[in-house]
Amino acid sequence: MQTDTSSAFPGYDAVALLSGGLDSILAVKLIQEQGLRVKCLHFVTPFFGKPHKRRHWEGLYGIDIESVDISADFVRMLVERPVYGFGKVLNPCVDCKILMMGKAREMMERYGARFIISGEVLGQRPMSQRQDTLNVIRRDADVRDLLLRPLCAKHLEPTRMELEGLVDRERLLDIRGRGRSEQLELARRYGFAEIPTPGGGCKLAEKENASRYWQVLMHSPQPCAREFKLSNIGRQFWSGGRWMAVGRNRMDNTGLLKVCGDDDLVFRVRTFPGPVAVGRQFSGSPWDEVTMADAAAFAASFSPKAVRSGSPVDVRVCRAGDLRLLAEGDEHAPVPGEAVVSVMPARTTGAGWAEPLWVEAREEIRAEARDKRG
Ligand code: SF4
Repeated sequence: MQTDTSSAFPGYDAVALLSGGLDSILAVKLIQEQGLRVKCLHFVTPFFGKPHKRRHWEGLYGIDIESVDISADFVRMLVERPVYGFGKVLNPCVDCKILMMGKAREMMERYGARFIISGEVLGQRPMSQRQDTLNVIRRDADVRDLLLRPLCAKHLEPTRMELEGLVDRERLLDIRGRGRSEQLELARRYGFAEIPTPGGGCKLAEKENASRYWQVLMHSPQPCAREFKLSNIGRQFWSGGRWMAVGRNRMDNTGLLKVCGDDDLVFRVRTFPGPVAVGRQFSGSPWDEVTMADAAAFAASFSPKAVRSGSPVDVRVCRAGDLRLLAEGDEHAPVPGEAVVSVMPARTTGAGWAEPLWVEAREEIRAEARDKRG
């Protein structure tokens, strides 16, 4: 087998798009079975990807994986809006596939790979796996002569890899449609100890998450990966363009403090146990004292003991960046520049903090699409 010795990691025949869903794994196994070496690329964004599962999958399925963070490019595509639009929720599947395929094409050289494989099945998904869409993805990602779809190859024109004899077309499959029986049968044949779910799990296709992301897209002056990570954690509340995230448990609290920006405000009730709440300060829009006090009262309402006390409680408010200056384990120490506000806990405040609703986001998305069509 010829390899490109100028590659960083030569010796691979193909790179594969690996979501971690069953189809993507089966596509890799079919090519490995032909004696070819495959490097799996597991793309990660705030919306999908499980990089922590990499080692587990490698051991379980006998595959070789690299996690690739494409958050910045993905967020840019969302901000500029996907050329081929959103699916049923906020999932830009066609643009997403084009982006991932394009990335895989760029990474081929690094591995000395000569083609790309993906686990798409003709007719399985309404948006991204129709014949015409499969062709659009192949064209726009510029992978016309590079892309092989082993699970449904026999329904498609033979590729360069098959014509040149690099891949044996006879050993590729002709799966079509939404059924799963053929994939499950194949998984059994390969002796998988764990059968993964069909897809890789994408939060953009889930309404509750999508309504959170839509707020960020609507209100942030410069949406970035960190903001979408913040919107994944805890409970989310908006008041116009103001945004608060409130932890539901210790893990959320830690997560919020980890992903919020240095200029974000952290609210913590002083004398009672309660969650961490983070107020996002978008650049150029610092919160005034009235908003801060309102948010402090709202944050305190998530501390049951503070509410039961029936009296005003102290809420500590500081910049996340200042809190980070404290030594680990010192989080109860006074924070430089911290303010303490005395407020009555209140779930209903003047600001009218509200959780984002999918029905409202959906209407805005539809209106935007109508405007775009003219
Ligand atoms: S479901 Fe999510 S990860 Fe999958 S193609 Fe669509 S946008 Fe991309």
